[in-house]
This record gives sequence, structure tokens and C-alpha cells, in this order.
Amino acid sequence: MPIRFFNTYTRTVEEFAPIAPPLVKMYTCGPTVYNYAHIGNFRAYVFEDLLQRHMEARGYKVHRVMNLTDVDDKTIRNSRSSGEPLDQFTRRFKDAFFDDLRTLRIEPAADFPAATEPRYIERMIEMIRQLEHHGIAYQAEDGSVYFRLSRFPEYGRLAHLNLDELRPSGRISNDEYEKESIGDFALWKAWDEADGDVGWDSPWGRGRPGWHIECSAMATDLLGPEIDIHCGGVDNIFPHHEAEIAQSESCTGKKFVRYWLHCAHLMVQGQKMSKSAGNYYTLRDLTAQGWTGREIRYALISVNYRLPLNFTFEGLAGARSALARIDEWVSRLTKLAGSENRASAHPVAQRTAFDEALDDDLNISGALGHLFDAIRESHRLMDQSELTPADARALLNTWRSFNQALAFEAEAPTVPSNIQSLLDARQAARGSKNWAESDRLRDELAAAGWEVKDTKEGQRITARPVS
Ligand code: AMP
Ligand code: ZN
Repeated sequence: MPIRFFNTYTRTVEEFAPIAPPLVKMYTCGPTVYNYAHIGNFRAYVFEDLLQRHMEARGYKVHRVMNLTDVDDKTIRNSRSSGEPLDQFTRRFKDAFFDDLRTLRIEPAADFPAATEPRYIERMIEMIRQLEHHGIAYQAEDGSVYFRLSRFPEYGRLAHLNLDELRPSGRISNDEYEKESIGDFALWKAWDEADGDVGWDSPWGRGRPGWHIECSAMATDLLGPEIDIHCGGVDNIFPHHEAEIAQSESCTGKKFVRYWLHCAHLMVQGQKMSKSAGNYYTLRDLTAQGWTGREIRYALISVNYRLPLNFTFEGLAGARSALARIDEWVSRLTKLAGSENRASAHPVAQRTAFDEALDDDLNISGALGHLFDAIRESHRLMDQSELTPADARALLNTWRSFNQALAFEAEAPTVPSNIQSLLDARQAARGSKNWAESDRLRDELAAAGWEVKDTKEGQRITARPVS
């Protein structure tokens, strides 16, 4: 069965067929770099990482673009209150974001375009000119340029909205709206005092781009007019993604995106985690409390992406113990695997089941279920001495293939507790210069299949096949 995804556009599960396989063109709306991203934001990025890794495990070549929104109301407001120029201010949060991606083991995108790069500002202006040329964009009395929604009848399809509510006939005489219709959105925002020294010259005067056109410009510039997959959180569907479709398709005349994938929110006590609600944790908040990036990754990834996920510390503790079970299993298999080279009598069925679960709209709970079944079953066989070293090696290979999508491997080789005790004892012996005891413990470790080396950073241990 081919990979299937739930497409927000059609509200159905569809077979995945990219335009030019094995290439998959994927665009994700990245962070607005006005502060540290919170782990709700990272739920979206971790889900996208699983998506990319699974497609790669299935042989696709993913070209992923993730933009950085480095100019908008919030970035300008916060940079001004910090007294730093916009680029210097956003640089800090871009760097922090890249650090956080590494902590969470998220594969870097092929491109991280930032909205303020001259190349993209030019492209945004070019697209707006094109829209204006076709009567789709207009400059209003306030100097800003708007998208004329009445010229894009498909607007609202992605969000399944009743457009009559958005498209009142005639002009609205509301102080707040100088645009023709209440739903018309800004493509170019005329400069005002709150913008300080932020602004670019354009055919419509000094100003700055609207958020939506930033994504249309970066996506089409780097990936072309047609994209296979576009992702984001569900809060991006309307108006942001709706606007991206309207702008891009009006400019290119082509269908912008084949598959729209949106992840549900990370919640805290029934409410969306967000900066504005104040119920958020940044990744740094959690790592400062001793949670590792791997544990947070597990907690964020382990619930299917279309289901809301409630953030709790019990959830993180659950992630910690699940990972400990995996580590212990891998370490037991590693020891058993040894160096013997006999064929395996136990074919490993879970591998296909695991991949097939992920093929099914990234059914991660199904996939993890297969992983833990494999763990339980192989422990049982090992307890009964029914698993050969070749079986263990086959299982380790299976684990490695699961882990291509999961990225759950331990930071360092997983050391069982009895081995750790020997290491601790050896450390203490060396501390008191008891070299004989230190050597004895090294031999005991070697007999148990672990080789210890003394380095400047301390003891380094590697699993060694027992002969
Ligand atoms: P922002 O920086 O607000 O533009 O958001 C960046 C990404 O995080 C977008 O894809 C949002 O949809 C997503 N996002 C924001 N809050 C949450 C949340 N609580 N749960 C999941 N995704 C979120
Ligand atoms: Zn976007």
C-alpha cells in the first residue's frame, strides 16, 4: 500500500503521489523569530520531521524549505522595545531556534529563507506588482496594498469556510477598514511610525510585506509554482494558508499545493499552548529542569499528529521510561549480538508493520506499538535463551531502520546498571590511585563485553563483542 495522508484541502485520506518522484517538495511555515519558540511550536516541527524522515526511509528525496518570519508586527515591536536593530534582534532568536532544532534532533531543512533577505523582498514586490497588474491587488487610501478577495472565488476552500460571511457586497464604511471588503488582506503594509526604521522602498511607497506574501514568495522562489506538501499547525489554515493559496495561484496560474498537512495543537489543561495565553514552556525551560531533548521529542511525537496532545509532566516522565525501555533492550541485544555470524531463525515481522503504520497517515501510536511488541517478544525469547546472536543482530538492524524515522537513539552507548556500577567503582579506585583495583575492574568489564578507555574527559566505554 502506498503512503496515505489526510489532506486538509479535501478532508480525506489520499494516496501520496508526488509530482516528480522520488523528489518531494515540502514547505513548512517556520517560526516568527521575536522570542524563543515554545514547545507547542515544536510539536509542529517535530511532526514535520517525522514526516520527512519516514518519506526518506521510504526512498523519497525530500527538499524541505522552512521559512523564518523575521519581519512582522511582533518582531518590530519587540526589537524596538529591546533597543536593538531588527536584524540584530532576530539573529539572536534565529540562532536559538537552530540550537533548539538540534536539541530535538530535527533534521535541518535544505533551505531556511528569511523574509528580509533582499532576494525575497524583491520577489514579494514582483508578485504584488503582478497581482496589481491583473486587478487582483489594489492600493487603498491608507497606502497599503490589499488582495481583492472577490477575484479569487476559491478562497475559503482549504478552511471549508462559508465565504458569504467574509465577502459582504459593496464597500464597508468602517473606520477600521479602508479596504474594499472586510476579508481583503494586506500584501504590502504602508510604513507607519510604529515601524521605526524598518521599511523597504516599493512602487507603493515605503513599507513592508504582509506575512502571507512572505511565504508565497519564498515557497515559489525556492520550490517553484507547484509544491507536493505544505505543513503547519491547524491555526495556520485560516487565514494564512488560505491567503498563500490565493496569492500564489493568482500569480502562477498553477495549483500551489497537492497535499496540505496540519497538526493539531499542543494543549495545556484544555487550552492551546501559546505565548498570548501565557501557558507555555520553551524548550530551554524544560531542559533547564533536566529533561533531555530526546525525551521532549518522544513526548511530542508519540501522539498521532492530528490528535490534540495534552502537555503534562507525567507525559514527559512516560517518555523517559519508554526511552529507558528502548535503551535497555538495545543494550541487551548489543551484548547478545556478539561477533558470531549465524543466520537468524526468527524472521523479523515488525519491520514491515512499523513502516506500514507510518504509511497510514503517520500512525505513530501504531508504529510504536509494533516497536514495543518487538521489545516484549525479544525479551521473552532472550529470557528463555531462544534468541541467537544472529537474531539479535537482525533485531538491531530492525531497530536501526525504525530509528531512521524516530531518532530516539541514546546519546552515548546505553550502559546497563551493573556495568555502570563497575564503572563508578573504577572511577573511585582511580581517584584514590588504586591502580590494581582499577585494572581488575577493567578486566571485569572486558569479561562482561565492555571495553573501557581512559581519556581526558574520563572513562569512555564501548560495547565489545564477547569472544
Ligand atoms: P508561529 O511562530 O506562531 O508562527 O508558529 C509557528 C508554528 O507553530 C506554526 O506552524 C503554528 O501553527 C505552530 N503552533 C503554534 N502553537 C502551537 C501549539 N500550541 N501546538 C501545535 N502547533 C503550534
Ligand atoms: Zn506560511
